[in-house]
Amino acid sequence: MAQFAQVIVDVPTLQTNRPYDYAIPTIWQAQLQAGMRVVVPFGNGARQVQGFVVGLTTTQPNYAGEVKTIAQVLDLRPVLNPELLALAQWLAQWTFAFQISCLQTMLPSVLKASYSKKVRLTGAVTPATQAIFQDKTELDFADLSPETVKQLLKLQQQQLVEVVYEVHDRAKVKTLKAIQPLLSAAAYRQAATQVPANAKRQQALLTYLQAHAATTAPLPVAQITKATQLTLANMHTGVAKGWLQLVDLETYRDPYAELASAPRTQPLTLTAEQAQAVAQITAASRQQKEQVFLVEGVTGSGKTEIYLQAIQAALKMDRTALMLVPEIGLTPQMVARVRGRFGERVAVLHSGLSNGERYDEWRRIERGEAQVVVGARSAVFAPLTNLGLIIMDEEHESSYKQDEMPRYHARDVALWRAKYHHCPVVLGSATPSLESRARAQKGVYKLLRLKERANHQPLPPVTVVDMKNELKKTKEDNFSDLLMQALRKRVQQHEQSVLMLNRRGFSSFVMCRDCGFVLKCPNCDISLTLHMDTHSMKCHYCGHEEAIPKVCTNCQSRKIRYYGTGTQKVESELHTLLPAARILRMDVDTTRRKGAHAKILRQFGQHQADILLGTQMIAKGLDFPDVTLVGVLNADTALGLPDFRASERTFQLLTQVSGRAGRAAKAGEVIVQTYNPEHYAIRLARHHDYEGFYQREMTLRHQGGYPPYYYTILVTASHEEENEAAKKIFQLMNQVKPALSPQAVLLGPTPRAIARVNKRYYYQMVIKYKHEPELEKVLTQIMQENQARHGIQISIDREPLSFI
Ligand code: ADP
Ligand code: ZN
Ligand code: ZN
Repeated sequence: MAQFAQVIVDVPTLQTNRPYDYAIPTIWQAQLQAGMRVVVPFGNGARQVQGFVVGLTTTQPNYAGEVKTIAQVLDLRPVLNPELLALAQWLAQWTFAFQISCLQTMLPSVLKASYSKKVRLTGAVTPATQAIFQDKTELDFADLSPETVKQLLKLQQQQLVEVVYEVHDRAKVKTLKAIQPLLSAAAYRQAATQVPANAKRQQALLTYLQAHAATTAPLPVAQITKATQLTLANMHTGVAKGWLQLVDLETYRDPYAELASAPRTQPLTLTAEQAQAVAQITAASRQQKEQVFLVEGVTGSGKTEIYLQAIQAALKMDRTALMLVPEIGLTPQMVARVRGRFGERVAVLHSGLSNGERYDEWRRIERGEAQVVVGARSAVFAPLTNLGLIIMDEEHESSYKQDEMPRYHARDVALWRAKYHHCPVVLGSATPSLESRARAQKGVYKLLRLKERANHQPLPPVTVVDMKNELKKTKEDNFSDLLMQALRKRVQQHEQSVLMLNRRGFSSFVMCRDCGFVLKCPNCDISLTLHMDTHSMKCHYCGHEEAIPKVCTNCQSRKIRYYGTGTQKVESELHTLLPAARILRMDVDTTRRKGAHAKILRQFGQHQADILLGTQMIAKGLDFPDVTLVGVLNADTALGLPDFRASERTFQLLTQVSGRAGRAAKAGEVIVQTYNPEHYAIRLARHHDYEGFYQREMTLRHQGGYPPYYYTILVTASHEEENEAAKKIFQLMNQVKPALSPQAVLLGPTPRAIARVNKRYYYQMVIKYKHEPELEKVLTQIMQENQARHGIQISIDREPLSFI
């Protein structure tokens, strides 16, 4: 039996990938397994931290000091299975992260312990302790004033009090009260004769129990109180009389309860292109092949139906399936489509769930009660066993990359798990990332193309309006004549329109017309954004907020004006230009509350509005039959950004949003306003020509030496003092350089485009390379050596999706 455990501990200030050895108390030696959570003492003093057992051994650790003992075991069975433990180890290495942050990312957040710091009486009660503790023996640090803390320090020196850290498990199972009848129907009848006839409630309870005496499953109290006049108090009387027992039933919080009863749908008859795709994917599932498929299908080609039928085939083989969808694509519509096909067997994971709901869905998966998981990025860690298929819809979406540690891309994790389970991966998109499309070109992935829409309708015609000409005619408004006419026509015909405002790198700000002064965030090098709903100026990076200025703080002029275009401004403009139109606005401001996003979509689906106006959020996944017009107000605001993926993003966005028009019987139309009508991303999007865009863009990437021709790694150093950050990045450069071959390219160091965020300065360098055997080692070393020391923070980002 193992007497020692290797534990990865949760100590934020001292992170390392090395497990620590702990002795296992005898009582737990038989039960403790790798993957369980434990509480262990750490460092000097009474500090306790949470940890994960990653290994067990019988051999005495090779360690000179005293081997500490595990204080508590938090789980009865492992929360991480062997696959996920191995995945965490790989992930830490691949993304230059700490194992503890990988383990915590993989699990529902309630399994991460919360800590509290307490003071306890240890010695004699003295007048001084009495004054602070009164009749208590323990106080929570969080409740104490700084003055009290100072006094306590003195008492601690006199050894009258001690400070203890406690670990709390936040994983709470939701239960509901239920009753269990204890007697036979005959016995209840008998009991009724002994209860006075005027004890109406008791009589009613006995009647109820008599009717349900035969039921073996506990009866939820809520159901009884709803169906009868009886109350919980009456149940307690029943307990006292020995008629029944009250029990706690474990239950799940089901965020999609109303969708479970959604009408079941049947598989559609596939088009020839769809059938081809399903056949190949299913064959790979059956042959347990880790084949990766890239489904490149135009918008409306019926990719979802392919996913659903491939999942169905996997379930038939008694295997499970994982379907990843970008966060904003995880609409109630999408969930209803999957639940409509597989009902209760589906678990849904996304960031809109409460922590409790997420934990419940996770347990349903972990126990094998759900065999299909639909979810956003972190659902890639869902504890499914026996995977037969992994799907990644809209695989080009940048939200699949996490931008904090561990900086992983869900696609890489999906590929790792597919290898482990010997199952296929399906990457789907109308506009695949260049990386994936290039891999398909080389035959690493298998390309499956769908060129036709499922309804055999043509893709909608796209008209490009050159706003340079429009600007000369009118003053400062956002609508071309053509778009305005088209909108007016839709409102008259009771058809719907979708209007997108491309806000990346573009928002409303305040500028002084006399001196050109722009109001900036005091913490970050970026202008503040105007918010009309809260009547304030906000920083989108650090959250700083202040009042809208009335006079210029620089020259005291009153000629201070709003610039740029926010959704709010466009909305009020539309109200003036088109008073008859009912408008729904969808942006970060209107979707902040839980469920708001779904509500707006539902209202639009029920035709409660004529126009859905929104940001990028509306480009994905919407499938409304009455939408016949899609308008893009500013196609090119992202083109000017200093990022080599600017064209790719613009092309993807225009293609996706165009795909929202004419999805059912009614033909659709798209109008795109731009200042760069000749730009290839806009020209090719106009013709729905992904393949043309791919060719053109690959040529440019080749010339520029960008991905997918090179791999990239971004190293960033930050500090509150600008020259500390700069010094560090140069030191790192000197550390990395000797490890690189002459084929590698090192860009920088440079200050980041937004050099200061949240009072910290950022300096970065980019390493571009094809094959560098030494690089991994030196970067891992840098990570281990530089853990938040001297206020420096280092981040290493493999294949970053943003360089600004
Ligand atoms: P995509 O994800 O490729 O943009 P969807 O999966 O949303 O496309 O499908 C577009 C529309 O076509 C949906 O309304 C869907 O129900 C319908 N559809 C898909 N496949 C078929 C089919 N084989 N027969 C009839 N309708 C289909
Ligand atoms: Zn001014
Ligand atoms: Zn800020």
